Amino acid sequence: MCEGAQKKIMNHTFIPYGRQQIDEDDIQAVVDVLKSDWLTTGPKVAQFEEAVAGFVGAKYGIAVSSGTAALHAAMYAIGIGPRDEVIVPALTFVATANCVIYQGGTPVFVDVQPDTLLVDPEDVRRKITPRTKAIIAVDYAGHPCDYGHLQDIADAHGLRLVADSCHALGAEYKGRKSGTLADLTVFSFHPVKHVTTGEGGMVVTDHFELADKMRRFRNHGISSDHRQRESLATFYYDMEELGYNYRISDMQCALGISQLEKLPVWLERRREIAKRYDSLFADFKDIAPLRQYGVLHSYHLYVVKLSERIDRDAVFQIMRKNNIGVNVHYQPVYLHSFYRQLGQAAGQCPVAEDVYGHILSLPMHAGLSDQQVERVVMLVDEAIKQAN
Ligand SMILES: *Cc1c(COP(=O)(O)O)cnc(C)c1O
Repeated sequence: MCEGAQKKIMNHTFIPYGRQQIDEDDIQAVVDVLKSDWLTTGPKVAQFEEAVAGFVGAKYGIAVSSGTAALHAAMYAIGIGPRDEVIVPALTFVATANCVIYQGGTPVFVDVQPDTLLVDPEDVRRKITPRTKAIIAVDYAGHPCDYGHLQDIADAHGLRLVADSCHALGAEYKGRKSGTLADLTVFSFHPVKHVTTGEGGMVVTDHFELADKMRRFRNHGISSDHRQRESLATFYYDMEELGYNYRISDMQCALGISQLEKLPVWLERRREIAKRYDSLFADFKDIAPLRQYGVLHSYHLYVVKLSERIDRDAVFQIMRKNNIGVNVHYQPVYLHSFYRQLGQAAGQCPVAEDVYGHILSLPMHAGLSDQQVERVVMLVDEAIKQAN
């Protein structure tokens, strides 16, 4: 690279791997709530639930304070408790496994397939025991898992199928939207996800009873909420079971409603960016984008695998030095010290452990320009030349 080009690159501002888009409509929507009577447990919560459930084609949405709270609510609703085992892919965010522990259950880690990094159905089969109660599938990067196959396994063993679709809002599998592919589906509205509420999450489902249970769970286990009591002019409430305060506010839901309107355009942009990366990397022999199998991808992440001979950590450092917010998703969950203390040992999911050393998440969000994508690719090219 000539000196002039180097300088120009160094002067560029930081490009994060993920970022929210906030416009004046979003801001106004939040301000409107601030001027209204209901800051929480008000009309925006139900409206947001209906909007998300409507978008994905599910009957019910239960909005909560985070994706993690949504996972916890899902584990509660399907009755996970002590001595129960839940199958969880090794390559995911820690919350996917933590939610099982919150309920006193045991996460059993399964390996992923090397080309997609999605849960390997054969390993799921191998790790089912008489204690297994459920499978949590993770739509890694935004590629829906093989739900046909997973549902067959779940049916054969009488297991619940839960989708951690925090990466996959707007994705489709065989023409069916993510949100309709499992008994319960969890979304997150953290700022790096497709649509944000600051912090927030939702479970969507077609099961009325599970939905009802989760509505109580997010409100201490109390059967009515503040607004219902207000409208009935009663003070009386009954706490029927132990729940939490996992409520989300009306400010957050107003932001979510406003964000959701833009989701189709943002999904299209993410897909365009992915296509651009794919074609720019087409003749890079040390870079392999993840494979895709006949799904409509939602591209929460754009992940590449670097070939064995490239030092991934060096590439990471060079990219960061050049102001590119690359990342690594994820360290296999059971390698975290908390899980090792629980007795989880290395070696149980060899594909996930190996691939962890070679993956890199490149910037992917709707606000990226074509020029930024090209700059990322140009810098990856430089970095792999320096790093091998
Ligand atoms: C983001 C995420 C979560 C948790 O969501 P929060 O809203 O941050 O609690 C869970 N699982 C996966 C796979 C995620 O990416």
